[in-house]
Amino acid sequence: MATREIRKDIFKKINRVVLKLGSYVLTTPSWKLDRKVFSDVVSSIAETRKKGIEFVLVSSGAIASGMGKLGLKDRPRVISQEQAVAAIGQINLMGLYEKLFGRHGINTAQILLTHSDLKNRKSFLNARQTLNSVLDYRAVPVINENDTTVVEEIKFGDNDYLSSLVTNLVQADLLIILTDIDGCYDKDPRSFCDAKLIALIENIDNSIEQHALGTKSKIARGGMATKIKAAKTAARFGVPTIIANGKLPGNLSRIFAGEEVGTLILPEQNKLTSRKHWIAFTLKPRGLIYVDDGARTAMVKKGRSLLPTGIIGVKGNFDAGEPVSCCNREGMEFARGLSAYGSLAIDKIKGLKTSQVKETLGYCHKTEVINRDDMVILGSR
Ligand code: GLU
Repeated sequence: MATREIRKDIFKKINRVVLKLGSYVLTTPSWKLDRKVFSDVVSSIAETRKKGIEFVLVSSGAIASGMGKLGLKDRPRVISQEQAVAAIGQINLMGLYEKLFGRHGINTAQILLTHSDLKNRKSFLNARQTLNSVLDYRAVPVINENDTTVVEEIKFGDNDYLSSLVTNLVQADLLIILTDIDGCYDKDPRSFCDAKLIALIENIDNSIEQHALGTKSKIARGGMATKIKAAKTAARFGVPTIIANGKLPGNLSRIFAGEEVGTLILPEQNKLTSRKHWIAFTLKPRGLIYVDDGARTAMVKKGRSLLPTGIIGVKGNFDAGEPVSCCNREGMEFARGLSAYGSLAIDKIKGLKTSQVKETLGYCHKTEVINRDDMVILGSR
């Protein structure tokens, strides 16, 4: 099927879109909010909403805009200063969204998230409920990481990744990442003038990941590599991604008119359930469990649970119920899951038959260390 036809097919089924806007798209070289870009994007959203499509924005630009307001050239190195700059910029950012959407009679809602808000399944579902209610009120949620309170260990990482987690949170059907280049190229377009834009990526393989070189940027945390990682994460939730240039006026409208703008990345056919996607991508592994080849094959090829007998080692300090990575002997991660036992218990029962667990620990509340329902095999395509 031609790329245009594939897009047409995808757009037939779109009800809810996560739109990620990067710092470079939203600001001028002196880190002032770029009003032309804002007006253009807001008008396109207002138009597209008339077709019944809902938007959830993931907007960067708080730190950049704070720097613009304060006249800073470089991002502060001291964390508390960076957090203060984000607070100053965030209100500026929201002020402009509120004003411009208001002109179209549309309300906006500020949602500042931290990883702790989503790592507990109950609070993840609460956040989903709130976002759904905001959308029921026909307002546009504008999400950003709560830069003012987060510290490094509890960061999502970057807003590209956050936007891919939001596709699961709001159960979106499309992720659009607007950035300051036209899409994903076969080589770095800033260094090679013969670099070609890739219109369609059916499958994110190693070579695509290699091409997606990270940008050494003063402001944004991403680069093409984080966008490709986000697209891969969205793909596992069955969501296609379009990476396009947000600086070009009218580009967002052109995307919704079915034009071949930017790079389209197709989703996986076997989408993960919301809970499994959350286990694999929203949660951060607290430790590693090393398994032998037999256990690995049983998990990957036959979809089996992980039993103590297949475990050869454990690393990290974690409690029962916490997320872990499963690795082969060489330490290559191939699965993630929720461990039914803590790391100390696993160290004692590794390699044992299930029948020996009770005599070793004095209890045996589960026969499996990771039940298949709590397990996700990574990189399945
Ligand atoms: N949350 C940051 C900001 O609003 C941006 C992070 C990112 O671009 O990944 O400035």
